[in-house]
Amino acid sequence: MRTPIIAGNWKLHMNPEQTIEFVNAVKGKLPDPSKVESVIAAPAVDLYVLKKTAEGSNLHTGAENAYFEVEGAFTGETSPKVLNEMGIDYCIIGHSERRGYFHETDEDINKKAKALFANGVTPIICCGESLETREANKQDEWVVAQIKAALDGLTAEQVSKLVIAYEPIWAIGTGKTASADQAEEMCKTIRETVKDLYNEETAENVRIQYGGSVKPANVKELMSKPDIDGGLVGGASLDPESFLALVNYQD
Ligand code: PEP
Repeated sequence: MRTPIIAGNWKLHMNPEQTIEFVNAVKGKLPDPSKVESVIAAPAVDLYVLKKTAEGSNLHTGAENAYFEVEGAFTGETSPKVLNEMGIDYCIIGHSERRGYFHETDEDINKKAKALFANGVTPIICCGESLETREANKQDEWVVAQIKAALDGLTAEQVSKLVIAYEPIWAIGTGKTASADQAEEMCKTIRETVKDLYNEETAENVRIQYGGSVKPANVKELMSKPDIDGGLVGGASLDPESFLALVNYQD
């Protein structure tokens, strides 16, 4: 059985003081992690206080990016090794904003996934097509190619622990959610791709999130789909009440 995982992606929002305030507001109200895992992925400058404030609570922590090297002359980058030393559980990689604005390639994302696993941090690997690709009905081949490239060289054991986030670019921050059926269809395709690349057990273990304008009003329907194991949530994760409504969707 896969444990559902709802992760907030704060992007370039929230400072350390706001982080402390947010975590204190949600701390005692999060679901049991064996039922739903609650994660906040925050900007690197907030991670230390995020982790410290979350200590002893059901909140898991994540970074929004990391580099594939752990140490050296790489100005401005974040080390997977240091994330692990800080006790950060997850790291988002391959978000469409990083692929788009920062020119990250499939190869970079694959190297980052390997570096994170080597340093005990679980990657949340994002994939998803543009509106143009969907309108050309090429979304399946696009996403399958992204998944194959991201997983290249990873072991079945690693992929079993992985989180994949399907985020159609046209639904991110636009208020346009993919319908629950569209989201399910692609999450199923991703699971079948994992089965083809590895085996049935690995495909059954890998957790697949949907992301793109997830909010309290649509989370239940999305989470009712068999291949959707969670949500990666931008805008609706910034407010404590909204985040609590998302992670407590089973209530
Ligand atoms: C995201 O940032 O990954 C995202 C899905 O954003 P939003 O929920 O705001 O669409």
